[in-house]
Amino acid sequence: MADRPLGQIKDTCCDYQSVESIQGDTFAKIQELMKARFFRYYKLNLWRECPFWNDNGLCMNRDCAVETTDESLLPKEWRQDALGALKMSPVGSTFQPFKVCTYKDQDFCLQEDPLDSDTVYVNLLDNPERFTGYSGESAWKVWKAIYEENCFNIVDKMAEGCPTCAATNQHESQAIGLAPAPSNKADLDTLLKDLAAHPDNPNEVCLEKRVYYRLISGLHSSISIHICDEHFDRTTGNWGPDLQCFVNRIGVHPERLQNIYFTYALVIRAIAKLEEYFSEYPFKTGDNAEDSRTREMIHGLIKSTRECPPTFDEKSMFKSDNAKSLYVEFRDHFRNVSRIMDCVGCEKCRLWGKIQTTGLGAALKVLFAYEEQSLKYSTNPSLLQRGEIVALFNTFNRLSESLEAIQKFRRLYSDRIAPP
Ligand code: FAD
Repeated sequence: MADRPLGQIKDTCCDYQSVESIQGDTFAKIQELMKARFFRYYKLNLWRECPFWNDNGLCMNRDCAVETTDESLLPKEWRQDALGALKMSPVGSTFQPFKVCTYKDQDFCLQEDPLDSDTVYVNLLDNPERFTGYSGESAWKVWKAIYEENCFNIVDKMAEGCPTCAATNQHESQAIGLAPAPSNKADLDTLLKDLAAHPDNPNEVCLEKRVYYRLISGLHSSISIHICDEHFDRTTGNWGPDLQCFVNRIGVHPERLQNIYFTYALVIRAIAKLEEYFSEYPFKTGDNAEDSRTREMIHGLIKSTRECPPTFDEKSMFKSDNAKSLYVEFRDHFRNVSRIMDCVGCEKCRLWGKIQTTGLGAALKVLFAYEEQSLKYSTNPSLLQRGEIVALFNTFNRLSESLEAIQKFRRLYSDRIAPP
């Protein structure tokens, strides 16, 4: 576990060394960028009802709570954008005051509804993702529902070797009231054993399904690493890294480690493709100098990734005979993951769960929903909403912090096993 991983990261175009080299060149830059005004504030509804099952309420630990921000302190341009949305509904050109925001065809994620009066602004620097104590049945039920979205009808019907998916792909049926989802830990472990075996059988499972699994598992790894890196020790009352937590959750599972590198590679590829878009994007922080500084910081960040070849080949996806239906299923399942976030029973976990699924959804949209020429602000100004941009970069920052924490845990592990 103390050794650096070597070789190709499966289903990407790069090896571990390339990712670590990008990480070395970008970590300080992404950390600095996240302090910029544009990226500090995220707007969302934290209290939407779980659409899939009756929730037993939110975790009441102090560490689960989110501090919200007074909206009047924020640039008036952001508030005006929301008011503008009142006149132009996102689902069409007619005024639809009572219609809940749905999706653009290209969206991989549930978008926050600008008309929703329950949305709040959160200062992300004041609400870091870390150990909250949220665990047990509620958390496993959510993870199980998320991984169940990895069961694709179109693929699994063709591949008879996926009995678990056939048996457990009932999340959607449950949503329409057909069957209660089993929620115990044993069911989750059985499902995961089946899914985790798939990426190692590339001849049996299509690339799209493997990519989907790796992305979710990479996100899960990143969340676990943050929990272990900022862990609360109940005995000492101190916060700090917990090596045993890391060893148990990640260190003894090389595929989970690989999947976080995979997710990093996919997200950085999406960000790199947006270089032209951000050269024109109006950040509207209320201060022109701050807008230019933010633009320059993003330019500097993307420039640092140019030394390496593209990390992920999005063109290799959705090429088979059933590409169109597979694409729609992939997108719809990911949308469901963003809806499942309303079932997370801990405010802080829900906040970061929503940000990171929105960030991954934005990356998928950039990679798969548009041709290159539509990735420019001048030709496609509504490509990404402000919240998607904030989420995309914050997600990249979370992954970068996780890679940084992995180095720290390697050092701690070496110290532990070193002879006295
Ligand atoms: P879990 O992490 O709950 O995992 C359940 C099972 O999934 C494991 O037994 C294993 O079989 C499998 N598994 C674990 N990791 C992977 C992986 N990377 N790839 C594939 N399979 C895997 N808790 C906090 O303290 N702070 C947070 O900010 C936080 N955010 C959360 C966000 C979401 C969206 C969710 C659903 C939960 C969050 N939690 C958070 C709870 C946390 O993720 C764990 O569920 C909790 O700590 C219990 O951990 P566990 O050891 O039981 O395993």
